[in-house]
Amino acid sequence: MIPRSHPRYESLMKREKIVEGFKKGIVAHAGLIAHGRGEAFDYLLGERTQDFALEAEKAAIAKILTAKNPVISVNGNVTALSAGDVVTLARRTGAKVEVNLFYRTEERIERIVEVFRGYGMEILGKNPDARIPGLEHSRALCSSQGIYSADVVLVPLEDGDRAQALKNMGKFVITIDLNPLSRTARTADITIVDELTRAIKNMISLVDSIDEPQKILSTYSNNEILSKSLEHINKRLEKISEELYSSSGLKT
Ligand code: ATP
Ligand code: MG
Repeated sequence: MIPRSHPRYESLMKREKIVEGFKKGIVAHAGLIAHGRGEAFDYLLGERTQDFALEAEKAAIAKILTAKNPVISVNGNVTALSAGDVVTLARRTGAKVEVNLFYRTEERIERIVEVFRGYGMEILGKNPDARIPGLEHSRALCSSQGIYSADVVLVPLEDGDRAQALKNMGKFVITIDLNPLSRTARTADITIVDELTRAIKNMISLVDSIDEPQKILSTYSNNEILSKSLEHINKRLEKISEELYSSSGLKT
């Protein structure tokens, strides 16, 4: 048991969920590595939602609410960390949910489908009947009712190749990725540089506050958001470095 008073309680709880998910066959080996990479960037960002992330979350909700066929793509990590909140977000926005795995095995698909069933939701992707062009075999599989025909896709923790393949299909791609330098972050139309569980919760609470979605979207610039996120990391590291330097006694 991790005591609540632990200064990094939230982060450790998420790690526990990922490890549990791995033991249950929901999270892939590579999912453990991806989580660690996310943790490292969250440390650099300050482990809380920053303004640029909130702005991207607002634009993402505006886009999903105005979409014809919005789809939320889920993988093992997303299921282990946020399945319940993904169900809430899908219900509140009218988005479909589809399981789409980078390392697809039928066992893992089944486990993930079962988790969502536990929340009363039948998700797409178990019996794929379409392919994302330009991707090799199982990575391309998807549902004609879901990702294949979607106009807007929310692909949290996505791989760069697939984000690009979805863009090539003409889709509007929204991602949640703590690494502002990843190919996915640079490819997406909206990049939420925030931790998955915080981002999904923020998005749920924003649903009712969107009055003029077109206005929000017309002033949104993803490159500006990515630039702000890097600037934030820069400034934060500079500040910490200066504090350390001045306490070293070397500065006059
Ligand atoms: P890319 O393929 O886009 O260049 P990558 O190969 O480094 O990126 P992937 O494993 O393909 O990474 O995708 C996982 C991404 O998800 C990583 O960029 C990682 O930082 C991010 N990530 C992992 N856990 C979380 C989380 N809980 N919240 C948000 N982002 C996360
Ligand atoms: Mg990748």
